[in-house]
Amino acid sequence: MTDEVILQVKDLKTYFTVDEGLVKAVDGVTFDLHNGETLGIVGESGSGKSVTNLSIINLIPSPPGKIAGGEVLFHDEDLLKMSDSAIRHIRGNKISMIFQDPMTSLNPFLRISNQMIETIVLHQGLDKAAAKEKAIEMLKLAGIPAPEKRIDQYPHQFSGGMRQRVMIAMSLSCNPEILIADEPTSALDVTIQAQILEIIKELTRKLGTAVILITHSLGVVAGTCDTLCVMYAGRIVERGLTVDIFDDPKHPYTQGLIRSVPRLDKENAERLYSIQGQPPNVIDLPDCCPFYPRCEKAMEICRKKYPASARFENGRAVSCWLYSEEKK
Ligand code: SF4
Repeated sequence: MTDEVILQVKDLKTYFTVDEGLVKAVDGVTFDLHNGETLGIVGESGSGKSVTNLSIINLIPSPPGKIAGGEVLFHDEDLLKMSDSAIRHIRGNKISMIFQDPMTSLNPFLRISNQMIETIVLHQGLDKAAAKEKAIEMLKLAGIPAPEKRIDQYPHQFSGGMRQRVMIAMSLSCNPEILIADEPTSALDVTIQAQILEIIKELTRKLGTAVILITHSLGVVAGTCDTLCVMYAGRIVERGLTVDIFDDPKHPYTQGLIRSVPRLDKENAERLYSIQGQPPNVIDLPDCCPFYPRCEKAMEICRKKYPASARFENGRAVSCWLYSEEKK
């Protein structure tokens, strides 16, 4: 990871209009991504983490969705203001994605070779023979055995874990600067999950690719991410270095998430903690701390006003009244 910022998300707001009202799925999200950094975005379902990433690459279905404000600067160019053809060139070339289910991106009727070679020819300008060579090399790096043979197979001839390896190889084959991985291991067996995370980590470090890893599990980010954003009800409630957050989580929601992670290093296994209550209904949310009905430390002010962001060392920021002078 270097000091160079390659992506700046500034006050991003993505809203959906539904029959019941306005859903502020993403409401003022701000973060930077550095060259070679692996950033984790963690939160429960509906916290806005996936919508944040679909907004970054301008893939929000409109209607019912709408990017209501903010900027996404990729090397100082706003992706939200680009023409359709310019953003299409960025997607898959400079910024690639992998999703939970590789079958959403793989065409079941085409051999892997056709799908990979076509992408590499299109984005890298190589001829077919060179593109095939590159595809085989990427499959090998992603841990596909006998890639020279398997490249001519169809997606259904691969197991779930192998399909995700193919997707990783395909996504990285055009040397993107950023890989967005949205719950890449959620559909896989636990034993395979660790292997896939290791491959993402190893390959992106080798190629110098920055990663945005979206997950509901803090266990996934612990050994993988340099930095962390914890999202709740459409906003980032805590962000900072992963090591700092695990050492000393400040936001009560982050504290709850960390207590919910199973620990194999503890001798006397305690009963696993679970955060009480349910995530809020994000339709027409009032401007208070949305975590207060579930928070063991809630105060009067938490029900009245959204907390200001408090700053700590190493770029740490926490939105919670516990750390604000204003509450006094
Ligand atoms: Fe809990 Fe209040 Fe902090 Fe929200 S602002 S997390 S309710 S203490």
